[in-house]
Amino acid sequence: MATEELPPLASDIKRVVILGGGIAGSLLAKSLQFRADIFLVDPKEYFEIPWASLRAMVEPSFAERTVINHSDYLTNGLLVVSTAVNIRDNEVLTSSGRWIAYDYLVIATGHSDHVPKTRTERLNQYQAESEKIKSANSILIVGGGPTGVELAGEIVVDFPEKKVTLVHRGSRLLEFIGAKASKKALDWLTSKKVEVLLNQSVDINTASDGTYQTSGGETIIADCHFVCTGKPIGSSWLKDTILKDNLNGHGKLVVDDNLRVRGLKNVFAIGDITAIPEIQQGYLAQRHAVVAARNIKMLMSGEKETKLATYKPGSAIAIVSLGRRDAVAQLPFATICGCIPGMIKSRDLFVGKTRKQMGLKPTLT
Ligand SMILES: Cc1cc2nc3c(=O)[nH]c(=O)nc-3n(C[C@H](O)[C@H](O)[C@H](O)COP(=O)(O)OP(=O)(O)OC[C@H]3O[C@@H](n4cnc5c(N)ncnc54)[C@H](O)[C@@H]3O)c2cc1C
Repeated sequence: MATEELPPLASDIKRVVILGGGIAGSLLAKSLQFRADIFLVDPKEYFEIPWASLRAMVEPSFAERTVINHSDYLTNGLLVVSTAVNIRDNEVLTSSGRWIAYDYLVIATGHSDHVPKTRTERLNQYQAESEKIKSANSILIVGGGPTGVELAGEIVVDFPEKKVTLVHRGSRLLEFIGAKASKKALDWLTSKKVEVLLNQSVDINTASDGTYQTSGGETIIADCHFVCTGKPIGSSWLKDTILKDNLNGHGKLVVDDNLRVRGLKNVFAIGDITAIPEIQQGYLAQRHAVVAARNIKMLMSGEKETKLATYKPGSAIAIVSLGRRDAVAQLPFATICGCIPGMIKSRDLFVGKTRKQMGLKPTLT
């Protein structure tokens, strides 16, 4: 494989290579860009707020604020539009055959997904999905995790006349949080006339002419469907690398308290790719980025290892939006559903807040 020549590093500036430009990797790149030589490797030219994508499917103009070119916030770093495929002790290989040397490496490849390369293509995709929803009278959603539940919520609130059926393989919705939240989400969806089928699956490939069969022998008639069964963890490429022994049984990277991959001095991992015992949430991935940024700065300044910041797993707080006004929230002492958690998340889906964290204006002028 060809090795592309890269400019030599100035002796006093360290190179930080960040793999994955999602919630965690992008914030880290932004935070370190004036302190180090930053290389951000991501398969697409843009950063996207993942939990805003369901709103963008019913209101495509919403994506104008939530799909953000990496170049908008990364003004002093290099974006490599590619995927990482291998790692050595001091360099990373991308799928385009380029070896990139690093002083510090940060793995932030959370989840892998097949999305378009450019922002324009992504915006067009939302337009097409919105038209698909608008032109359908009946819609099948496969998967009752956060994506399926939030999509069902968006559709029934914006298009209450449409028949929505949600099929979920598990015995309850939202299995990543507690049973109380599952029940409240189910009650809310049922009150909006969503038909929820639990303990069943649908093989989309065997559907014909808008007729779908479930594993439980039921027949669903729908004009279109959306598969919301979750994205795979972005670590399959690590299985043949020097980090293979640092993956746990779920394909996640085991890190120490300083967020370094166990046993390594200059390789960090942040976000959903890590095996930290907490629920996978973007606000926690952002906290990882803050801790990793601090530690990389300290190491670059020659600080003692004992002074490095430590990360403590977050508590199991999560909010799942239910359309534009309501949400179900799992909080430390209670699980609530309705417009109060909805006021926190569902109106703007933390978009203004996330844009500000990335150094951007919350609204577009
Ligand atoms: C429906 C839904 C609602 C949610 N709501 C919330 C919420 O309200 N609040 C909240 O805090 N969290 C929420 N989350 C969780 C949140 O989206 C994730 O925890 C967060 O996105 C994790 O960030 P990350 O950077 O680790 O991974 P990701 O955001 O998945 O980013 C990973 C990046 O790595 C890239 N990548 C993958 N493989 C490679 C490779 N080999 N080389 C280079 N790049 C690669 C991907 O393209 C992507 O850009 C929600 C999730 C869902 C699905």
